Amino acid sequence: MWRMAPFEFDAPTFFDIWHRWQNDPQRPDVLHVLTWAQQAPTAQSLLAQSQDTAWHNLGQELAAQCWGLLPGLHRLRLSQGRVHLSLWVGDESPLTEQLGEQPTCFNNALATPTGSVVIIGSGIAGAASARALAERGWQVRVLDAASHIAAGASGLPLGLVAPHTSPDDALISRLSRAGVRCMQQTMQRLLIAGEDWASTGVQERRLPGKTRKGGAPASWSSPELAPAAQAWSRPDTTHPAALWHEKGAWVKPARLVQTLLNHPQITWQGQQNVQRLHHDRTQNMWQIWQGDNLLAQADRVVVAAGPASAALIASAQVAAPPIQPLRGQLSWGLMAQAPQLVPLAHPVNGNGSFACNIPTSDGLAWFCGSSYDRQHNSHEVFEADTQDNFSRLSALLPDTAHALRDLFTPCASPELRSWAGVRASVPDRLPLMGEVAGAPAGLWTLCALGSRGLTLGVLCGELLAAMWHNEPLAIEPHMLRSLRASRFADKIKS
Ligand SMILES: Cc1cc2nc3c(=O)[nH]c(=O)nc-3n(C[C@H](O)[C@H](O)[C@H](O)COP(=O)(O)OP(=O)(O)OC[C@H]3O[C@@H](n4cnc5c(N)ncnc54)[C@H](O)[C@@H]3O)c2cc1C
Repeated sequence: MWRMAPFEFDAPTFFDIWHRWQNDPQRPDVLHVLTWAQQAPTAQSLLAQSQDTAWHNLGQELAAQCWGLLPGLHRLRLSQGRVHLSLWVGDESPLTEQLGEQPTCFNNALATPTGSVVIIGSGIAGAASARALAERGWQVRVLDAASHIAAGASGLPLGLVAPHTSPDDALISRLSRAGVRCMQQTMQRLLIAGEDWASTGVQERRLPGKTRKGGAPASWSSPELAPAAQAWSRPDTTHPAALWHEKGAWVKPARLVQTLLNHPQITWQGQQNVQRLHHDRTQNMWQIWQGDNLLAQADRVVVAAGPASAALIASAQVAAPPIQPLRGQLSWGLMAQAPQLVPLAHPVNGNGSFACNIPTSDGLAWFCGSSYDRQHNSHEVFEADTQDNFSRLSALLPDTAHALRDLFTPCASPELRSWAGVRASVPDRLPLMGEVAGAPAGLWTLCALGSRGLTLGVLCGELLAAMWHNEPLAIEPHMLRSLRASRFADKIKS
């Protein structure tokens, strides 16, 4: 892996680094560049400079990624994901402060992976971690209890990817923007637009009585920040109290999981119901057990088993993180069976969500979600949740609910389809990502993605791999500390 220490961004210097990397006969697969700019480079300025033919393609690619660069750290991915540009926007001094723990050297020895890794769970968390590690040279073995991939919450037929906004630009808001950027890059690279996903934009309607104070930070309307902020979220002039999220998208999560796992360095094995993790001191290896059956041994294990992660972590004789299951149900049907439905051009979310004109193998479909249920921990479909979805839809989009009302009448129509799954969440509603506290080295987790797994899962997989390789991160280090898997264990101790 090539690394480039922080330098003030200018297009010719970046091009020169890229050129040297391209011409290095022993060129490693990935080039990492850490750079900073007082003002974010604009697409127009990059395109103007890319008249030169050699720089043309790279310049065009970079220009296409230069949207929404608010102050802070951003990860731009170019050349089919082989060039990673970590761009700090703002004064240089906080960069040194913030990134003090970051490497500033070339050709770090950690670049070549040694050892074996097993990932438990093939939802978005397991698949994203597996892909990020495989792209860095690891041979990854993924085990799942089910006989097919995406058997948990990531089997959701359709989900939305959208940023969170808050007047104080809270951590989850900044994290969600990094997640959306990472998902946009990944979906463009791996999925078929219009079939597996679409970057439609998402309208968020704030309903009266909603407890969370929504809305964007006041500073986003300043002349300096407005151009970058508008690329994220702005008031939607077509509807009162609505926000328009320009980079919002719908996605079929199981397709994403499938394409993430489709890599020559990844092996997937189903029907591997892991029950116990044990660290063998003599061999200094982690053992993965199902009853008396040793399923696998590895130097490193990543637990990405959704709600089952807590029990698996506890089986390694360490404190389990306080993961709570949060069941949810989605209702959907075919457009052809809802003749009164007037299609919307884009998904709408708020309290619940609605998307339509989504291609499926049975025809175009509409989707309406999703309930929250802390009582049950099952994939069973409940009539009460169907009615819950209808109530939510009636508040969010009254005309749409009216057009679909016959399908939602109790115990009604076989044309109404349902899907239920179980999310995993912790009290602060942030993902758990990192090495498990109190365990011998090598036990990692990525879980508790809550209601935002499709927005945050791929980013977190990238962060996990970046930590293993001591790479520049896609988010600021203080944000990473808020995600660490040990944070609840630390609270118990103090
Ligand atoms: C109804 C609903 C709507 C949602 N809508 C959205 C949305 O619009 N946008 C969004 O961002 N997020 C949404 N989410 C959340 C999102 O789906 C989840 O956050 C995400 O899929 C979680 O991924 P995961 O990989 O952590 O877990 P999962 O997808 O649950 O994967 C866990 C995997 O681990 C396996 N496993 C479990 N136990 C074991 C074991 N002992 N041994 C081996 N394997 C095991 C399971 O079989 C499963 O494959 C929604 C969730 C639900 C339920």
